Amino acid sequence: MPKDEVVVFSSINTAECYLVRSLLTREGIASRLVGEFRAPLGGEVPLDDARTELLVAVPDQAAAEALIDQARRTDGPDRPCAACGEPNPPAFELCWSCGADVPPPPGPRAV
Ligand SMILES: [Zn+2]
Repeated sequence: MPKDEVVVFSSINTAECYLVRSLLTREGIASRLVGEFRAPLGGEVPLDDARTELLVAVPDQAAAEALIDQARRTDGPDRPCAACGEPNPPAFELCWSCGADVPPPPGPRAV
């Protein structure tokens, strides 16, 4: 890994990493996934070695971590994409799979 990148998120679930990456991309933060092809090895290698990692440039680290933290604190049911049917976590406004708009969750929410 180049020195000017840091891991801001990692998961054994590659799809989750794509979700987080789409969140960062939406906010204008460039990121890239590393190790996404290791995930199928889960169970054959220690899980920590099978994690997919999401990297951003060092100057973007604080902003990226704030977004990820915010997403984690947003709870509620996944919302299915109207276009493709993939479930999307409540924090995501665009479908991670096809990029269609996902309607915001119901209920009071500061905008
Ligand atoms: Zn979709």
